[in-house]
Amino acid sequence: MKDYRKFYINGAWVNPTVARDFPVINPATEQEIAIISLGNSTDVDMAVSAARKAFSTYGFSSVEQRIALLEALLKQYMDNYDAMAHAISLEMGSPIDFAIAAQADCGKGHIESTLAALKEFEFERQLGNATIVKEPIGVCGFITPWNWPINQIACKVAPALATGCTMVLKPSEIAPLSAQLFTQMIHDAGYPAGVYNMVNGDGMGVGSAISSHKDIDMVSFTGSTRAGIAIAKSAADTVKRVAQELGGKSPNIILDDANIEKVVKRGVLGCMSNTGQSCNAPTRMLVPASQYQKAIEIAKATLDSVKVGDPAKSGNHIGPLVSEMHFNKVQSMIQMGIDEGVTLLGGGVGKPDGFETGYFCKPTIFTDVSNDMTIAQEEVFGPVLVMIPYEGDEQAIEIANDTPYGLAAHVHSEDIDRAKRVARKIRAGMISINGASHYYSSPFGGYKQSGNGREWGEFGFDDFLEIKAINS
Ligand code: NAD
Repeated sequence: MKDYRKFYINGAWVNPTVARDFPVINPATEQEIAIISLGNSTDVDMAVSAARKAFSTYGFSSVEQRIALLEALLKQYMDNYDAMAHAISLEMGSPIDFAIAAQADCGKGHIESTLAALKEFEFERQLGNATIVKEPIGVCGFITPWNWPINQIACKVAPALATGCTMVLKPSEIAPLSAQLFTQMIHDAGYPAGVYNMVNGDGMGVGSAISSHKDIDMVSFTGSTRAGIAIAKSAADTVKRVAQELGGKSPNIILDDANIEKVVKRGVLGCMSNTGQSCNAPTRMLVPASQYQKAIEIAKATLDSVKVGDPAKSGNHIGPLVSEMHFNKVQSMIQMGIDEGVTLLGGGVGKPDGFETGYFCKPTIFTDVSNDMTIAQEEVFGPVLVMIPYEGDEQAIEIANDTPYGLAAHVHSEDIDRAKRVARKIRAGMISINGASHYYSSPFGGYKQSGNGREWGEFGFDDFLEIKAINS
């Protein structure tokens, strides 16, 4: 078992001020695979003070110096790419092929897109008699989740490093192995002591010490809307900037001219990918009423083709849910859907046959769902799809927007202009037409209760910059 009890503060691995061990569990085997420490506010104070001191020099470093450091970090990342994929697979149950192709790729993608943006970014310009200067905001606090662990760490840390900020990261206590490895990469890339610090811990002990800290200038958070609200409230007393990337319940609008066979299949597989644990998963499939029956048949056949399996094995199966607590939450949401009286097309409560050990869950589809039901409104964060019939494009748009969230949406149509017209009416930050993917340089973020920030590429720089006018 790996011993990861130390934190990374001021360029060195250090013991926690008070020992508080916490086991890291492999969700596929329920075995303890590592041990970390849960920190406290004194550990956070030490990390913030190191970051504050480092900011006095790193905050004035040149773009060229920061490009060289990010290039060194990219090299470290590529040298340790396979280890990163394995760490993610172990800590959160991502099947290894998916961890290699998708999960670990995010770290590489964000460092590369940040480097490209940094090489072009205009930190200074003249406006009348004013020199407009964009300066690093200072010390940043990062609180990240477990579902795409290195994605969320890299898309905060890389732009913060690029803009000259210093930082304290608290990764998810449930999936801290990727953060451990990433921290070592930062060390080996040669970043000056104090620029980047990492303190493990839970939301109450370390998360709230970060959000309320008087010497942290901004907090960037990715996670549930519940925790995002708590963080914003706790940050309010110190008037720090708060960037939130929160939950979603994204619609997948199938227009009546779409290739129904192809797009229903794509929609089901998209929802089940990463065992449904993606904030932007297309979890509400909106189907023209005239094609609803046909769509159900295609969805059932696709569902039957989705295999659950051991994440350590190669293949395109899906893995377990991340933890026992999350498994129980998803089970109760599935039961709630059943209690609401919807039709269970496949899946349901309980573990799939042959998977007694591990937090494996049955891929599940509900039909005859109306959008006002709880199962259509609340984020399940598991492999659970609801299929909702509609009449006409306007009703599809109305249903798509009828949710507290606004993170992402899919639109499917053979007529690209029609799909774009619908896309413009959706109150969400990211729309995919006909399955188009989201690139690392595109802005990532949501409307409404899905958050207020934008990450990725050049768009990820703004949250880490202050704007100064020097009039002369
Ligand atoms: P979570 O909110 O439970 O935890 C996220 C992080 O916040 C963890 O590090 C946790 O320790 C910390 N935390 C929890 N309560 C806190 C508090 N009161 N103060 C400070 N920190 C606190 O979320 P999770 O279960 O890890 O992740 C799943 C959620 O994340 C889903 O709702 C999902 O939609 C969302 N998510 C959003 C995005 C996005 O970009 N919009 C991306 C991934 C995940």
